[in-house]
Amino acid sequence: MSTPSYPVVLDLTGRRVLVVGGGPVAARRASSAVAAGGRVEVVAPWLCEELASLVADRAVEWRARDYADGDVDGAWFVHSATGDRTTDDAVAHAADRARAWCVRADDASASAAWTPAVARSADGVLVAVSGGGDPGRARAIRDAVAAGLDSGELPVRATRRRTIKGPGTVHLVGGGPGHASLVTVRGRRLLATADVVVVDRLAPRGLLDRLSPDVEVIDCGKTPGHHQLTQDQINAVIVERALQGLDVVRLKGGDPFVLGRGGEEALACHAAGVPVEVVPGVTSAVSVPAAAGIPVTHRGVTSSFALVSAHDGVEPIERAAHEHAATTTLVLLMGVRLLRDSAAALVASGRSASTPVAIIERGWTEEQRTTVGTLADIADLAEAGGVQSPAVVVVGDVVALRADLGPFSPESRQARRP
Ligand code: SAH
Repeated sequence: MSTPSYPVVLDLTGRRVLVVGGGPVAARRASSAVAAGGRVEVVAPWLCEELASLVADRAVEWRARDYADGDVDGAWFVHSATGDRTTDDAVAHAADRARAWCVRADDASASAAWTPAVARSADGVLVAVSGGGDPGRARAIRDAVAAGLDSGELPVRATRRRTIKGPGTVHLVGGGPGHASLVTVRGRRLLATADVVVVDRLAPRGLLDRLSPDVEVIDCGKTPGHHQLTQDQINAVIVERALQGLDVVRLKGGDPFVLGRGGEEALACHAAGVPVEVVPGVTSAVSVPAAAGIPVTHRGVTSSFALVSAHDGVEPIERAAHEHAATTTLVLLMGVRLLRDSAAALVASGRSASTPVAIIERGWTEEQRTTVGTLADIADLAEAGGVQSPAVVVVGDVVALRADLGPFSPESRQARRP
């Protein structure tokens, strides 16, 4: 199939497409022609199940007989997939005489036209692949392109200004604990098409390097020369950009609905009539202990964990200690500042002073560090080691598993290699 080839995209709307043959190949051809708007007629003495259901749905018309001279007349496009060389020859010759393009399923080299393997994105990108006579290769390349379109690894962002029809959507995207590889495929894909990205300090900022230069990036965290945005300002800016018709990704650390104020942002969008979508993320509460080799539950150790914010004082921690069994793992977020008070409060609430505690700083980054102690000495150890936020504090017997499991983050694995 080294003949010249000329790729085009056809609008088949309302145009007659003839499919000769009743088997699965004919069925695939017929259904893609229907999807492209064609008025499809199938000529075949019998039909496979898929074609029969297209006929039953009135998506195609069926002439229940063998191919006959004259069937091609009036067709813009012809598919011959009869499995019978003589018939395919006859169809192809008739199509040539009628100046219609004919795709032969039996013999690509005798064909006047070929159907490529096609990948499409939800928002209008179409990639058609010819494998140079090797359909398997075309499909493999198509699958790789489709995966790149889905994941946002390919530059799928529209570069032409669309006509603005109503507000854009705000996507509250959980970015995971910090490593660029730990965002979801959906999050990645939305980043690749966003007009505006509103980003938190603890979000996986490595993902910002991939944005195209015309994407507006609004940084909510404190950076030199910039003030931190208040929650009201963040709510206002996401709503305002969406009302301008722009698609907004609100990129947050971990999961948007775990101590991330994602709920408030969603409510602000609802109040302004802005469509909002939540894309879950890998929460640091579970994944950062995992990075250090600590499962928050483990058969035979504990079957529950409680997640507590230590941001606004120790009462929530005391409450959690009272509400949950002594074996329940406690995971404290934002727990560095009040660590000493929190540890003392847990002992005062009945947890043994010898309960193991781990503090994992900057999980899933190259600076990940784990400090291990007990409720009795962890505050002193943290102070001596200069432990800083962001860190996850894990309290419970699961901490001891770390000795056998060891760290799981990619960076610490690299560090362990000889
Ligand atoms: N929505 C986030 C939590 C936001 S609160 C989530 O689901 O993960 C911010 C706190 O999360 C930090 O103070 C810290 O306790 C924790 N945290 C987030 N990322 C972290 C990381 N990479 N390493 C250690 N702690 C982290």
